[in-house]
Amino acid sequence: SESEASNGSFDAYLDAVHPNDRERVISEIRGAIQKRALFQADYRVQSPSGGYRSVIARGKPEYDSEGKVLRLPGVVIDVTRQKQIEAALTASQERYRTLFNSIDEGFCLIEVLFDQEDKPIDYRFLETNPAFEKHTGLSNAEGRTIKQLSPVQETHWLDIYGRVALTGEPIHSINKSSSLDRWYEVRALRFGDAENRQVAILFNDITDRKNIDDNLHRAVADLAEANRRQTEFLATLAHELRNPLAPIRTGLEVMRMSAGKPETLSRVQDMMQRQVSAMTRLIDDLLDIARINSGKLVLQKEVIDLKAVIANAVETTLPHIEAAQHALIQDIPAEALPVYADAVRMTQVFGNLLTNAAKYTPANGRITLSVVRQGRQVDVTISDTGIGIPAASLNKVFDMFTQVGRHSDVAQGGLGIGLSLVRQLVQMHGGTVSVSSLGSGHGSSFTVQLPLQEDAVSAHARKIISSPIETKGSAYRILVADDNRDAAEILTVLLQMQGHVTQTVYDGDQALRAAADFHPDIAFLDIGMPGTDGLQTARNMRKTPGMEDIVLVALTGWATEEDRARSHAAGFNYHLAKPVSIESLNALLANPLQFTDS
Ligand code: ADP
Repeated sequence: SESEASNGSFDAYLDAVHPNDRERVISEIRGAIQKRALFQADYRVQSPSGGYRSVIARGKPEYDSEGKVLRLPGVVIDVTRQKQIEAALTASQERYRTLFNSIDEGFCLIEVLFDQEDKPIDYRFLETNPAFEKHTGLSNAEGRTIKQLSPVQETHWLDIYGRVALTGEPIHSINKSSSLDRWYEVRALRFGDAENRQVAILFNDITDRKNIDDNLHRAVADLAEANRRQTEFLATLAHELRNPLAPIRTGLEVMRMSAGKPETLSRVQDMMQRQVSAMTRLIDDLLDIARINSGKLVLQKEVIDLKAVIANAVETTLPHIEAAQHALIQDIPAEALPVYADAVRMTQVFGNLLTNAAKYTPANGRITLSVVRQGRQVDVTISDTGIGIPAASLNKVFDMFTQVGRHSDVAQGGLGIGLSLVRQLVQMHGGTVSVSSLGSGHGSSFTVQLPLQEDAVSAHARKIISSPIETKGSAYRILVADDNRDAAEILTVLLQMQGHVTQTVYDGDQALRAAADFHPDIAFLDIGMPGTDGLQTARNMRKTPGMEDIVLVALTGWATEEDRARSHAAGFNYHLAKPVSIESLNALLANPLQFTDS
């Protein structure tokens, strides 16, 4: 019975047991006594310092000869600490589970499966969170392997997870899944003991973010490129506007000094006229581009004979072509080729293409102009034997402000807007323009395709004529080299009027040869000459015995500190920016050895 099994100290002990556990403990003890079995229980018991401790108690009842319980010896182990840790662990596991279940990142725990050679062959999903299914589209993955779930294998993932499982080195990578066409950011780290070969993977679909990033990068790069081209364009524009200004400025001076000499006056006026026309053309091109871009260019279209337009363009550009001694071969059918077009604009198109062909072809080249009727359209092809265009630049030449290799082309002059204008005008006529080239040094070929019309009317003609000039004088012996003939001539005239002996040449190699025969005291060399430019000519002269003492003056539209440093390094004594003012010229000639050019 109950009282038989109890004594004073045992009752006191039971009093210390936590009230909620007490009934259970008593019934366990009873059960053990009845069954003569081991007593075992865990419960809370009050400690002397107050508060309860968790314990595990084990004991075995001892009986007298009549089978009555004598006592219950045993051990009581304090497990309070373990209980606390277990409780904390359960709580934290629950917290993490809640976290993984609520995050947007996909999470999974996998076990990587290897073959005998430790090569990863598959992996099994042990745990996944809800976002996992959302990102991957794989449902009920737990317990199954990736090969069972997805027939399309991306082995590089398997390799990556295998490596993490083997080495324990975590990875963080951004990768594209080509089968899903999405970008993922993935973190993987080994989980638990190395021999378990388990890897925890946290991943995120960053396709949208990546697209925004990429677009942003592209936009920034485009802006930078546009900005670079614009800056370069402004520098070139300044240079191109200065070029014709130089002879105009000098021309005014010459006119002032040659009052009463009608012959000199009219020569100077002709030159100034040509320079003003060149400048006007440049500014007109700029304005045309601006008008097209703002939608303000109105075409005066009428039915005209394309052959007349082409004849005009040829006539306009013939001086350029002849100056460079190119052969012009024309292959034009006899039949009329009626087009519905603005004659002035179309002349501009072919004029630009012919001018380029002349400009970008070294002297004595061949320009071919062929016109072929192709059913209801006509192809006009202008080919040259010139410097050609590298394949990488072919699709860019029609862009605004594009020049292939800026410094070599600067010598040719130009703003990089001509072809852009050509393309826009051709498109406004319902046509297309294309370019082909076998590469640097192999010539270029531009083809304009235009739709044909029925009737033909002829257009008007324009003409620009240039005439060469010779000179003579005394005092210093001065050599002038400039590929811009007008600029060279006008400077020569001015020098002659001041009594100097001059010789004029138009390129670097001629300048070197002339210097050997003519023994100049001073040489004015234009920097931007085609072929051997001014810098190389100066270097060549400095290397030639007898030319060390020639006062070398660089003439150029490029006048930055860098440009000055470059010309001084090449052996120039002075660097004069075009247009050269009569004052600086006079100052230089008054005392060539003491002049300062800054
Ligand atoms: P630019 O004023 O520089 O001549 P364009 O727009 O007419 O400008 O031409 C753009 C660029 O295309 C030129 O700077 C040159 O590099 C290249 N180019 C045009 N035509 C030719 C050609 N016939 N041969 C070689 N390069 C050419």
